Amino acid sequence: KAASAAPGDTGSFEIDLPNASEGNVTTRFPPEPSGYLHIGHAKAAMLNQYFAQHYKGRLLLRFDDTNPSKEKDEYVEQILKDVAALGVKYDKLSYTSNFFPQLADCAERLIKLGHLYADDTPVEQMRLERGEGTESACRRRSKEDNLQIWEEMKAGSEVGKKNCLRFRMDMANPNKALRDPTAARCNPTHHWRTGQTYKVYPTYDFACPFVDSIEGVTHALRTSEYRDRQEQYYRILKMCQEAWPGLPDVHLWDFSRLTFVNTLMSKRKLDWFVRNGRVDGWTDPRFPTVQGLYRRGLQLEAMREFILSQGASKNVTLMEWDKIWTINKRIIDPVCPRHTAISDSQRVKLHLTNGPQSPEVISVPKNKKHPPAGIKATTKTQDVWLEQADAAAIKEGEEVTLMDWGNAIVKDIERSASGEVTHLMGELHLEGNFKTTKLKLTWLPVTRDLVPLELHDFDHLLTKKKLEEEDSFEDFINPCSRWTVSAVGDANMRSLQKGDILQLERKGYFRVDVPLLKPTSPIILFAIPDGRVRSQ
Ligand code: ATP
Ligand code: MG
Ligand code: MG
Repeated sequence: KAASAAPGDTGSFEIDLPNASEGNVTTRFPPEPSGYLHIGHAKAAMLNQYFAQHYKGRLLLRFDDTNPSKEKDEYVEQILKDVAALGVKYDKLSYTSNFFPQLADCAERLIKLGHLYADDTPVEQMRLERGEGTESACRRRSKEDNLQIWEEMKAGSEVGKKNCLRFRMDMANPNKALRDPTAARCNPTHHWRTGQTYKVYPTYDFACPFVDSIEGVTHALRTSEYRDRQEQYYRILKMCQEAWPGLPDVHLWDFSRLTFVNTLMSKRKLDWFVRNGRVDGWTDPRFPTVQGLYRRGLQLEAMREFILSQGASKNVTLMEWDKIWTINKRIIDPVCPRHTAISDSQRVKLHLTNGPQSPEVISVPKNKKHPPAGIKATTKTQDVWLEQADAAAIKEGEEVTLMDWGNAIVKDIERSASGEVTHLMGELHLEGNFKTTKLKLTWLPVTRDLVPLELHDFDHLLTKKKLEEEDSFEDFINPCSRWTVSAVGDANMRSLQKGDILQLERKGYFRVDVPLLKPTSPIILFAIPDGRVRSQ
């Protein structure tokens, strides 16, 4: 459905919102500050931004902070950072907690209208009754009793804490979301913004339609698994409009939830990994968080193109990671600089009998097809380093190509008792044609200024592609999702900065996680998936 998205613009869909016209659309992105944003949230934020721009309307950012047990201001800070990193610009920032006084006022009016009642049925029993469609005994309480209990709830008293407020809706409705949903309940926890001011908090089901409407949201986008709850949203809004004259209508519009193979997206589950030290915080490169994916080397343009290419489809499909990494590779490959690295373990010297007596330094472009990437120095020396794996593949007398230099004929190969190549002797044969050689070898000069590298590669955190309802994710944790090899790199890598993207010849794409800080501590490079080989 979606047309292609050029980097930097939001692309164009052939989708429209119902009842929308230019200048009359307000959308909102309402994250709960209970974790960092992940790529699913990025989709929601970008779609909301897309519609706001498309209709020359407004985008609100609202922290949905109705649950003091889960929220922290650290998350607010990080979400603001994530939103900025996604290039999402909003017209207004608000908090659901700004509306606690109005919500309490509205609740009182709803009690007086008979739309809300206080219920102290024990949780388990309430769950059973809701399942069976049985009305609670409390449903018959008088308005006066309900108002009195409401006062107890606001005070957080013992009586208050036993009760919750419920909408008098339809206990017999086949749609369970309509079976007297809860509107408010007590929570003694300190709220990160309002402290101890409130003892009772509105539920999402109550707060969302009220605040959407009072803030002037015209189109509330929600993921399609909430479709069962659309009717509930409209009914609650209608009751609120009766209690609070002048509240405008809101249109719901749903889109598909983004899910990926081998990946958890629920903030609660991601938080489990963080709290149990299974990852390196919320920005871990194995996490689907915006910051984790950036750290892994995903570019904003790639994320945007991927998300917009899904457009308005309402089908929840389990996405493969390859797709997004293939887009990413297409973006980084033409522009990133090329460097050379040789694995540290058992690297081998090749002595070139007719090689340069003293080091020869030449300048070569960092990316032959992209001059702005700059130039680098390549040093040719009489002894060069080769990878053990490459050395092991060479046959005595074979002509090979030293990349960006020329051919050489390997005359003599020494091996240890266990068969590893320990030394090679050869002769440059620069007249030789590289088209005739089978082996094109990465090499580095034997000099003192090579830089130490640590190459990190990652796998999925989960071993199962798709977790079923009955699966518990703890049973499918990949025991080895990160591994490291040490290597040495060409001297030009000294100047790499944190966040730089590069390609190591024959090894793939990497992002600098830690640049060279001290001569002895290695540059830490994270492998960027390229959509081939493995899917991570
Ligand atoms: P989580 O399970 O990660 O906590 P959530 O829906 O509870 O997700 P919110 O902070 O409430 O998280 O979500 C903010 C917005 O992002 C909502 O509009 C929600 O629909 C949307 N959203 C959350 N997860 C996804 C997803 N995987 N794909 C698309 N949109 C999502
Ligand atoms: Mg939520
Ligand atoms: Mg959630």
